[in-house]
Amino acid sequence: MSEGKVYIVGAGPGSMGLLTLRAADLLSQCDVLVYDYLVNPDFRRLCRRGCEMVDVGKAPGRHSISQEQILEILLDKAKEGLQVVRLKGGDPFIFGRGGEEKATLLAEGIEVETVPGVTAALGCAAQNGIPLTHRDFSSSLTLLTGHENPDKKEPQVDFKKFATTGGTLCIYMGVGQADRITNDLIAGGMSEDTPVAIIRWGTLPRQESWSTSLDKLPGTVSSKDVKAPALLLIGEAVTHMDDPSEGRALPLLGRRIVVTRALEQAGKLRHKLEEMGAEVLELPLIKIKPETSPEVLTETFAGLATYEWVIFTSTNGVRHFFDFFFKAFEDLRCLGPMRIAAIGDSTAEELRKLHLQVDVVPENAVSEDLAQAILDFENIENLNVLVVTGSRNSPKLREILSLKGRAIVDELQVYRTDLSDPSDTWEGLTLIEEGADSILFTSSSTVESYANYLAKKVNGDPKLYSIGPKTTKALKNAELPLAAEATEASLDSLIEALLQS
Ligand code: SAH
Repeated sequence: MSEGKVYIVGAGPGSMGLLTLRAADLLSQCDVLVYDYLVNPDFRRLCRRGCEMVDVGKAPGRHSISQEQILEILLDKAKEGLQVVRLKGGDPFIFGRGGEEKATLLAEGIEVETVPGVTAALGCAAQNGIPLTHRDFSSSLTLLTGHENPDKKEPQVDFKKFATTGGTLCIYMGVGQADRITNDLIAGGMSEDTPVAIIRWGTLPRQESWSTSLDKLPGTVSSKDVKAPALLLIGEAVTHMDDPSEGRALPLLGRRIVVTRALEQAGKLRHKLEEMGAEVLELPLIKIKPETSPEVLTETFAGLATYEWVIFTSTNGVRHFFDFFFKAFEDLRCLGPMRIAAIGDSTAEELRKLHLQVDVVPENAVSEDLAQAILDFENIENLNVLVVTGSRNSPKLREILSLKGRAIVDELQVYRTDLSDPSDTWEGLTLIEEGADSILFTSSSTVESYANYLAKKVNGDPKLYSIGPKTTKALKNAELPLAAEATEASLDSLIEALLQS
């Protein structure tokens, strides 16, 4: 049995972009992930399928799993020979009990590696424009905790001693202690009008922030009902804080939007939605696999040079076609001198990666428009046309080209799309238990999968959006209500539909 190991890893303050490359690498390889409530649960999408995920989240007042139980889990898993990532908010060694966990594991003979993370103070300050040190007004930085180890009899931090550092104070877990902190700092000689920033869930779309002054701190905390996790930043540096109202106009702030993982441009779509403040959940609703008929493939490849046109209807089509092609041929020139057409910009982009020029891309990514664009390009009567397809393409393209264009059309299937049940994936469970604001459907197969496996189980009533008529029809067939349909078959248009309704 291989040796187990525990990696005590800092997740940073929340935003995915603030995770270290080392942490991302470990997440993608580990057998077990143990994470707590400060950790953005979205990080789970970096883990491989089959990784065991243990939520030991301790929201304040909701004691789910004790520190002893957490240690027990880490020990058990490591002793089973597993690679365990213990993911902790911020940096594991800053008010994170990482030091205690490390010592216990080492004492039990478990190998441990620690990976630093961006601690909340650094993340919250930089992202809100607060220079923690500055040659003109802050020459030190102090990290303090407002909350003490409950086993200790006396509170340990004597805030009076930190009243005159002349630098910036960053107080973790301090909102519950705002009265005491304020009184002590003022008693220690800090000016009442010293600027204070309160930042809650910093670096995440749901961040809230307030700027106030030391004497008004307790009042602000109670009138705004500020709850953990929030950080207090105290000192001159805070006057440089960005306007908290800026960026609050993000149109999708606080909304959870579901998209389909297998979508070719899932990454791009996620990015666009996140830029607008949304929380994005990618559901594995379908699986794409290479699949072809060996006879048809051999015949098609043997006659490849006779085709005047090859048409690709998806990036999956391009990828799988060329996987098969390069198994059969060593030289791209074996393709022959055909013209190439593609539905959709991303399909065309995939072809351009191979340095192939695409002769026709219709403005709207639908079969009818592609067929028309080819007919407009040239007379295709008696020309040989090859359409590269998946298992679920509609016959429409073939019909128009052969009936209207009088071309000789062959089809070559290179992949298949299977519906897959996401109910027991963490993404599926999150949707079932917590619901979502909206779901964006980009194909009829994703609708079918959703209708089969999830629709009846999902908590609440997410609004359902469709990329085009085929997808809308699938919603109708499944008796699912449509919120809005994109006016064009593009992701931008789908987002537009989402924003408008
Ligand atoms: N190890 C963590 C700190 C854990 S203590 C780190 O290095 O950041 C928990 C406290 O950290 C919270 O109560 C809060 O004061 C602070 N904190 C953590 N993440 C935060 C965030 N995203 N925004 C504001 N405060 C945060």
